[in-house]
Amino acid sequence: MDCWTCERTAVGACRFCGRGTCRDHAKTYPFLVDVFRGRTHETLRALVVEDALHCGVCRPRGEPVELPELE
Ligand SMILES: [Zn+2]
Ligand SMILES: [Zn+2]
Repeated sequence: MDCWTCERTAVGACRFCGRGTCRDHAKTYPFLVDVFRGRTHETLRALVVEDALHCGVCRPRGEPVELPELE
């Protein structure tokens, strides 16, 4: 796999879109790993990786999309 931006060998794949990215072009972006409902509070809580690998090209949504089928 090669870097999407410069076509050198990639060191990893974007967590969001799957594009390859080299060390120079790799960026980080908070990645929402899981959403769960707290036991004591009836609020939705999110588990987030703060520095997931991001290709710098795609644009992850700032807010979670609704998933009505999981209700
Ligand atoms: Zn690159
Ligand atoms: Zn990406």
